[in-house]
Amino acid sequence: DKKTKNGGNLRCPIVCVLGHVDHGKTTLLDKIRKTRVAKREAGGITQHIGASEIPIDVIKRVCGDLLNMLKADLKIPGLLVIDTPGHEAFTSLRKRGGALADIAILVVDINEGFKPQTIEAVNILRQCKTPFVVAANKIDLIPGWNSKEMPFILNFNEKNQHPNALTEFEIRLYENVIKPLNELGFEADLYSRVQDVTKTVCIVPVSAVTGEGIPDLLMMVAGLAQKFLEDRLKLNVEGYAKGTILEVKEERGLGTTIDAIIYDGIAKRGDYLVVGLPDGVLVTRVKALLKPKPLDEMRDPRDKFKPVNEVTAAAGVKIAAPDLDKVIAGCPIRIVPKDKIEEAKEEVMREVEEAKIEVDDE
Ligand code: GDP
Repeated sequence: DKKTKNGGNLRCPIVCVLGHVDHGKTTLLDKIRKTRVAKREAGGITQHIGASEIPIDVIKRVCGDLLNMLKADLKIPGLLVIDTPGHEAFTSLRKRGGALADIAILVVDINEGFKPQTIEAVNILRQCKTPFVVAANKIDLIPGWNSKEMPFILNFNEKNQHPNALTEFEIRLYENVIKPLNELGFEADLYSRVQDVTKTVCIVPVSAVTGEGIPDLLMMVAGLAQKFLEDRLKLNVEGYAKGTILEVKEERGLGTTIDAIIYDGIAKRGDYLVVGLPDGVLVTRVKALLKPKPLDEMRDPRDKFKPVNEVTAAAGVKIAAPDLDKVIAGCPIRIVPKDKIEEAKEEVMREVEEAKIEVDDE
């Protein structure tokens, strides 16, 4: 039953991680994927192609009582986090009228502060009107900070921290994160002090190494998505699949394949794949839709994928089809029945033209 599976027909928001090199994007993604609860219990994080899905039940378990801080009821089915961090992945994930990512996590080393790529990322997010939270990372390196795998908000008090560590935290938070955001035109504050999330950027202190603050981060991302994006997340369960190519890859036995993020509708094996190219449109037939094979089913490491008959947004999927040699990352795709091919061709061509105009503007 699609209705219950998709949490009343809302799809997962697509989450992208941005930030300066070495500020901890990869470590943070790994930590999120290895959340203790998720690892231990069944029904944990699902691996997609190019993305990881954190089901809402896992988020609820990780966050526990913290969720009472949210004034929104979480109806989203979970979060689909793109595995590749950085603004290249973000900008290639485009769709008509902006970014494909619904929400972003901007990672800033709280000890180093804003760097060129942090500023670049803020400007991209502003241009795409993508809501974001700031993960102020590496709080374990604040002198004297006693960092533990727990919610930040429960560790941020005089019982757990030396007064000097608390003072140093406030200084770094203000000088290295709040002030530079103010200079870029954003109000910002520690998330627990924010009154109105539509006016003020929420900062969540975290340590990707100890895991401190990960519950707070997941809660804020899920909460913001629920609050801001409900309309955008309404899933078109009847409709055909819309997506973007994340990567083009050779696979043994499959030839050239594409890894795609499907952000709306349902993709079906046997339907037609329509790809918008810089200089035209490719129409081909979907030979296989592939998901990663769970580790316990992987008898032969060369046999990494598992064919499925259909894929519902939001999802990452590998697509095998003939004639994919000219296809590149960032191209828009549709997966449609035969009678919708012409319509799909027009849509992807329009998207390619719009992307060209945006590039010319820069
Ligand atoms: P990326 O370039 O943004 O993906 O950064 P990485 O995730 O590769 O991290 C860069 C370095 O910072 C690595 O050596 C990480 O181990 C380290 N690092 C990342 N997050 C933290 C953190 O929260 N605390 C500490 N102490 N080190 C971290």
